[in-house]
Amino acid sequence: MNTAGKRINEVAEQLLSEVNTVYSKTGKLSDELLSALNFVFQAPLLPALDIIDHRNVTTISGPSGRKVYQVLGTSGTPYICLPSTTYCSCPAYRYSVLLKDDHIMCKHVLAIKLAEAMNLCKSQQVSDQEMTNLIKNLE
Ligand SMILES: [Zn+2]
Repeated sequence: MNTAGKRINEVAEQLLSEVNTVYSKTGKLSDELLSALNFVFQAPLLPALDIIDHRNVTTISGPSGRKVYQVLGTSGTPYICLPSTTYCSCPAYRYSVLLKDDHIMCKHVLAIKLAEAMNLCKSQQVSDQEMTNLIKNLE
């Protein structure tokens, strides 16, 4: 990753921790924070907030402690994302994030980061077998 890319990720991390502070204190995001988020994350921000409004981010964990995220997209398609990466199985990830480098993450991964920061993830426990199946279905 180039230097500019690294710097934007640091800014993104800072903003997310600010989201955590502000949201846990006030229960909402300030206008300044929203415009900063919009500046850094751009087009995926509004759809990501919409996903969170619908509580469509779920943490799925198995007995072995393995964890993945499931995000229900606007079309109702579930996407599986991995913690600690910005990988997503959606087409926008491949085109806008990987190929064109337009956005630093797709709306699903952004929704996860924001939902984590705002403590709005639902959680679900599955068996190891179900977890294996979820991970096997990743491309
Ligand atoms: Zn995605």
